[in-house]
Amino acid sequence: MTTPGRVAVSPTKLDTWQDCRYRYRLQYLEKRRVDGSWAHLSMGNAIHAALRDWFDVDEEGRTPAAAADLVRGNWTALGFRDDAQSTGWRENAAAMVERYCTRYGSAAPYSRERTLGAIAEHVTISGRIDRLDEHGDELVVIDYKTGRRVPSDDDARVSRALAIYALITARSLRRPAFEVRLHHVPSGVVASHRHTAESLARHLSRVDAIGRDIAAAQESGQDTQFPPSPGPLCGWCDFRDACPASGIVPAQPRWAGLPAADPTD
Ligand code: SF4
Repeated sequence: MTTPGRVAVSPTKLDTWQDCRYRYRLQYLEKRRVDGSWAHLSMGNAIHAALRDWFDVDEEGRTPAAAADLVRGNWTALGFRDDAQSTGWRENAAAMVERYCTRYGSAAPYSRERTLGAIAEHVTISGRIDRLDEHGDELVVIDYKTGRRVPSDDDARVSRALAIYALITARSLRRPAFEVRLHHVPSGVVASHRHTAESLARHLSRVDAIGRDIAAAQESGQDTQFPPSPGPLCGWCDFRDACPASGIVPAQPRWAGLPAADPTD
């Protein structure tokens, strides 16, 4: 959804711009195809899909074991070293989700995987929000995390993505949205933060400033505006084959982003 004079951004797009403009160009301007996937993304996608679909199951069948089965049903082996590793992690992820739903299954989400948007001076912002819960008049933003790191309240406080989700929720749905939460599915830890109108305005102002920079670079038509930024993230980059700077950092195996304990080891 691009409005003339504004650049379309999302939390992921903003991160990519700030991590590496060369990658931004390949991914969003040239729209290069990406071959393959990463095991941790395959696992994350299956967990997200299960937690999205589980609340649609009728009340009688909405058991934690049914949530585990949804993980199995949404599983793909893309990015895993071999079938044994994939199967081990599939069962590990199913157990994680079963534990999570045992603990938090009484929730009644207002919406799941909902894409919302908002317009600012230099940007149109969109984002897909894992879950919104209703607390009185307010909507609470929930983002599922499936990675190895357990988030803290400070992570929720500084998360640009969560702030954007709160902003676009409030603007699109015309409901107050200040509370943001990270639900770490593997550990069951919930990290939370309550924004204020001022803290959300600061986030929006920073996003708008980045949008202005992106628009200026795009309108310049100069490749020099999109230099590579080689660093540790190159090991995880999907565009290594098209990048002259990628050789500085070795490529990570496609399963390197999985949590530390490998159930097949
Ligand atoms: S390999 Fe590194 S420098 Fe090259 S596009 Fe990817 S992140 Fe940027």
